[in-house]
Amino acid sequence: MRIKSGPCLWSDKPYYSLDHYFKSVYGKKIYKTALNAGMTCPVRDGSLDTRGCIFCSEGGSGDFAAGCPSGIADAAEIKKQLAAGREFIKSKYNGDSFLAYLQAYTNTYAPVDKLAEIYEAALTDPHTIGLSIATRPDCLPPDVIKLLKELKEKYPEKCIWVELGLQTIHKNSINYIRRGYDNSVFEMAVHDLEDAGIPVIVHVILGLPDETKDMMLQTIEYLNTFSIFGIKLQLLHVLNGTDLAADYQDRKFDLPGKEEYTDIVVSCIEHLSPDIVVHRITGDGPKDLLIAPLWSADKKSVLNGIHAEMKRRGSYQGIHYT
Ligand code: SF4
Repeated sequence: MRIKSGPCLWSDKPYYSLDHYFKSVYGKKIYKTALNAGMTCPVRDGSLDTRGCIFCSEGGSGDFAAGCPSGIADAAEIKKQLAAGREFIKSKYNGDSFLAYLQAYTNTYAPVDKLAEIYEAALTDPHTIGLSIATRPDCLPPDVIKLLKELKEKYPEKCIWVELGLQTIHKNSINYIRRGYDNSVFEMAVHDLEDAGIPVIVHVILGLPDETKDMMLQTIEYLNTFSIFGIKLQLLHVLNGTDLAADYQDRKFDLPGKEEYTDIVVSCIEHLSPDIVVHRITGDGPKDLLIAPLWSADKKSVLNGIHAEMKRRGSYQGIHYT
């Protein structure tokens, strides 16, 4: 283990937050507008499974995105959702710049000309700084990578990011959550995206059944070996209607309490490379579906607890980065 650097001045937080990244690049706060392009995914449509990932809600992990009534969206539907999201953020936060976030389901799981229509609808919106695309590493064939590269060249002033739901590197957990691909597939996707010049954000779930803190730190250390742009650390949420909820109600596993989660997430940040932008450090589950842990619904209190613990420990991102 080695200490890479002393505490960095990442504005008001002891880690490289997305908010800090946006302010340093764009000079202001940027808001996310969650979109639903009406796609599905291979663990729902029968290609790999029909049940979905064990934790995933009916909304395809996009419960804050708008509904998409007409199957796969067209450009008009994306523009409509963007306008509605913009209205909401304007009225609530008075914000004027947005990142279009294709959140629900697998947003590269459609014919490439359809994807081009959807992505361009978001990229040509004058209020967006760009587009972030949530998908799976096994849904990035060469024609999609080529499209992303072409769009990056066509719209150099806009950002195009891809978000990959890795969740964990541990085989038992991978099987339990029904992820449906090996770590080697993730590795290939990251390298293909890197070659295309597309920044990658990785989603990790903390608190999966039978994962110890050491195992979660191994996932972080694995990610440190890639030149990824960002990470989302997400507490495992048990949502109504999922198979995870059935297992939880059958007492097949326990969830970390607030103090334990705080310790885990602070340790993960301490082990994370200081170059990786931290996009999220807690859950963002829909309150109307949340069964457990109920303490996570008070997001402000969770965040305050994490920040206070980092201050108490004198910790910062990368303190244990190796
Ligand atoms: S998490 Fe993503 S890949 Fe898994 S079922 Fe939900 S939408 Fe599909």
